[in-house]
Amino acid sequence: MQSSTIYRNIVVLTGAGISAESGIQTFRAADGLWENHRVEDVATPEAFIRDPVLVHKFYNERRRHLLNGIQPNEAHLAIGELNKELVESQQGKLTLITQNIDDLHQRAMGKDNVLPMHGEILKIRCKESGQLFSCTEDTSPEDYCTCCNKKGNLRPHIVWFGEMPLYMSEIEHALSQCDLFIAIGTSGNVYPAAGFFEMAKQYGAHTVELNLEASAIGSRFAEQHYGPATKIVPKFLNSLSF
Ligand code: NAD
Repeated sequence: MQSSTIYRNIVVLTGAGISAESGIQTFRAADGLWENHRVEDVATPEAFIRDPVLVHKFYNERRRHLLNGIQPNEAHLAIGELNKELVESQQGKLTLITQNIDDLHQRAMGKDNVLPMHGEILKIRCKESGQLFSCTEDTSPEDYCTCCNKKGNLRPHIVWFGEMPLYMSEIEHALSQCDLFIAIGTSGNVYPAAGFFEMAKQYGAHTVELNLEASAIGSRFAEQHYGPATKIVPKFLNSLSF
């Protein structure tokens, strides 16, 4: 892997594949199942109205699993190291957009530098006021919201299918500035994230896919490297020159 061009504005987009080797299952786009549940049953606003007990239970299980010894892996850490290097040397800027709801990037590089566009499992919010609360315990439709004091008003701070992703203006700004766009561990099936490489390309960025295998849109990237994230991400990032 050689990348002798010097880049100053790097955008990294990550998906469930980067956390796979930390022990978190990916979303299986091929059969539409997430941890053996259909997304229609656990990841849509309609599912939450229909069966809030099931939806709370699904995210309680994901939260418990995350907090039960799951750690950032070499790929999360390599991105954190690169960010630190760029901040300290003032040689460039890295923007990390993640579709993941785990907090492994935040642990590896600090909360301020991560745009979790699909929400965060360690937060809940009030449906009425939008107020956010950190959350490390199980939740249920029986809980009272501390801001409005109403039962059933708390929901997981997760962007469900059919809802608008978070941080879109920051993301669009970063894509318009970037000269290198790297997609890691994402299947290219969930929009709008799957379209970000096209936007970056239109702004003149070099586009790179790092994934276990070619994604649905892999051939449209200028450069591709395939293998487990813990191997290919550190290797590729170490090959960059500043
Ligand atoms: P996806 O599950 O659809 O695709 C994962 C991609 O990662 C696949 O292309 C797969 O080939 C690749 N992959 C698997 N193991 C890998 C490894 N060891 N190294 C490198 N690549 C690997 O993921 P997506 O595109 O992020 O879309 C899934 C949606 O489900 C997202 O919106 C996300 O919010 C949600 N989700 C999040 C998590 C999490 O927070 N960790 C986990 C599952 C699903």
